[in-house]
Amino acid sequence: MVQLSGRGVLRRGDVAYEQARLDAVWNERKPDRYPDLIVFAEHDRDVVAAVRLARREGLAIGIRSGGHSWVGNGVRDGGMLLDLSRMQDITLDLVSHTASVQPAVKGPALLERLGEHGLFFPTGHAPTVGIGGFILGGGYGWNSRRLGPACLSIEAIDVVLADGTLVHATDDTHPDLLWAARGSGPGFFGVVTRFHLALHDRPRKLLRTVHSYPLDLRDEVLAWSYDTLEQLSPAVEFSAKVGFSPWLERQTVSVTATAFCETDENLLAPLEDAPFRERAIRAVVAQPTDMAELYDYADKMTPPGMRWALDGIWADGPVEKILDAARPLFDSIPDTTSHVLWMLWGGHPERANACWSSQAKVYLSPNAGWTDPAEDLVHERWAHGELAALQHLSKGLQFSDNNLADRFDHGLSPANAARLDKIRAEYDPQGAFRTYMTPQESTTAYAAAGRARTH
Ligand SMILES: Cc1cc2nc3c(=O)[nH]c(=O)nc-3n(C[C@H](O)[C@H](O)[C@H](O)COP(=O)(O)OP(=O)(O)OC[C@H]3O[C@@H](n4cnc5c(N)ncnc54)[C@H](O)[C@@H]3O)c2cc1C
Repeated sequence: MVQLSGRGVLRRGDVAYEQARLDAVWNERKPDRYPDLIVFAEHDRDVVAAVRLARREGLAIGIRSGGHSWVGNGVRDGGMLLDLSRMQDITLDLVSHTASVQPAVKGPALLERLGEHGLFFPTGHAPTVGIGGFILGGGYGWNSRRLGPACLSIEAIDVVLADGTLVHATDDTHPDLLWAARGSGPGFFGVVTRFHLALHDRPRKLLRTVHSYPLDLRDEVLAWSYDTLEQLSPAVEFSAKVGFSPWLERQTVSVTATAFCETDENLLAPLEDAPFRERAIRAVVAQPTDMAELYDYADKMTPPGMRWALDGIWADGPVEKILDAARPLFDSIPDTTSHVLWMLWGGHPERANACWSSQAKVYLSPNAGWTDPAEDLVHERWAHGELAALQHLSKGLQFSDNNLADRFDHGLSPANAARLDKIRAEYDPQGAFRTYMTPQESTTAYAAAGRARTH
């Protein structure tokens, strides 16, 4: 008999089952997939018990930490949904500057604890994203241009493996496991119960600049941002949004730059030299800000309570070629919530101890948001279909923004994807853990339309 803390186990048909299934996915667009069992874990021993139960009953395991997978990756048909949402402990080691963090911890809670000690971590932009899926999937967080994707700050993990054993894995004891944990996203093959993270110094001050321009300047602004990136310090996070501005109540192209300053230098000054600067219809210039405000802005970009479909590709120039190809995507933004993000990350060196790979200079990401289920297909077709037309430019996707089910792309270099498959076969030979979703598993209207076309 499995001993589990708290709510324990829910089976299909139990009164609380459906609410727990729906709660496992932050997106209002819930998948029509039904696990046989939902198991709640509060402690490592619960996770061990759950994995052993799944092993005995032959149930494939889907995992939920913060529940922010856009496609509800942990919620699969049949098998077990292992819900880690209660696992939210943060333990700091101020001598080694490391944090031991359970997987359902959210960014604001972690940064608040770290801030008390002058420390920082590149958490996800939205305040509700869980550390678990975010870090495993690479993790493009606050100040990631300087600090790197969050997965590169993993020093060790505590992980329950397919055979039900709990191991503390480091680069020395389990190099392959650590390599996989740094970037394989939903392709990871174990349950991480703790991330041991290297911490960074808290920036001395945060500054933010926003310029909004009329839409007729779209290509000019985006091309300029692409060319200007190298003039900006890596401590500046730089992106543009094409879409509706709630401040101006019209469609605009807005550039936003956030500086994580170590000194008094104004890292945002180069933005004021933009050749079209005087045409800005709204400008916030190097305004002091803080993490609470930044989280608030991010939360308002993709607010909860809506249906969301996201996708994205990494691309490199020539920028005119990207902009030409992306014109239909920009020109068909379906409403005032949906928008396209143009994020200038600029690349980051890959590491031999991380499978994380496939990054280019810009990440182009349609964010479709709506409320009426009858509009699913229109929005999903815009997010995935319009992007599919840009496939020839793609240098890959971020695992966190897609799960391959609605548009296939690579999230790792071919060599790293092949090595990951080999390591997974060693650690999880029976396929105890779910891996990347397939189009057959997708329950979106877009996937259904695709299946209907091919039959
Ligand atoms: C509003 C919003 C904003 C976002 N902003 C960013 C951003 O700024 N940067 C960015 O990089 N991403 C961002 N994302 C994407 C986000 O990082 C991914 O969706 C990520 O998977 C969310 O993690 P989670 O734990 O909340 O998700 P979950 O849905 O709980 O997990 C997703 C999958 O990750 C794997 N996983 C999660 N926890 C574990 C674990 N403990 N052990 C093993 N596998 C696990 C499982 O395969 C799981 O199904 C955002 C998503 C949303 C919805």
